[in-house]
Amino acid sequence: MILELDPERDILGVIDVQPTFMPGGELPVPEGDQVLGPVNRLLARFRHAFATQDWHPPGHLSFASSHPGRHPFETIPLAYGPQTLWPDHAVQETPSAALHPALRQGPIELVVRKGFRREIDSYSAFFENDRTTATALAEWLRARGFRRIFFAGLALDFCVAYSAEDATRLGFESYVVRDACRGVGLPDGAATTIETALARMAACGVRFFTLAELGA
Ligand SMILES: [Zn+2]
Repeated sequence: MILELDPERDILGVIDVQPTFMPGGELPVPEGDQVLGPVNRLLARFRHAFATQDWHPPGHLSFASSHPGRHPFETIPLAYGPQTLWPDHAVQETPSAALHPALRQGPIELVVRKGFRREIDSYSAFFENDRTTATALAEWLRARGFRRIFFAGLALDFCVAYSAEDATRLGFESYVVRDACRGVGLPDGAATTIETALARMAACGVRFFTLAELGA
């Protein structure tokens, strides 16, 4: 059965569909390029969409290279809490930090850039990683009357998950289009960050759909 969409109250959230997160990029998510086709099908299905764009200055605090002796994918304590360190990625004004050129951008009405302050990272479309500095996305969505947000993109276990969880906390209905996402999949205890993110999202009320269930 195909979920009925309300064209004026449902919106697609396209998370970090940037070459930097795809094979050949600086922080390649496995099969990250495989989200392009599905996301474009969703963009043809939804009347309204917003996108996020990871957008870091050189020397960003989330880069392992900013911490001598540290390596990518280690987690270190920072003033605002634990931070996973990454290879340098999504550096402002580099070609791989652009929204992917194959993205069908027509329905994308707002692009939220994040991670642009050197001292703080931002996984969620709604808050920086201190969990208190808001991006203004929630106010924009409320002003426009959107109720349900359908997330797709990269990476499932970080920016998609944090955004989808925050959406539920902010009172939106939050959905993840599972086959329009790919995850990084770092070890996380006995599990992977993908498994723990899926469990965490489910626990806070995020629901999962497939392209087929959305008629995309
Ligand atoms: Zn980043």
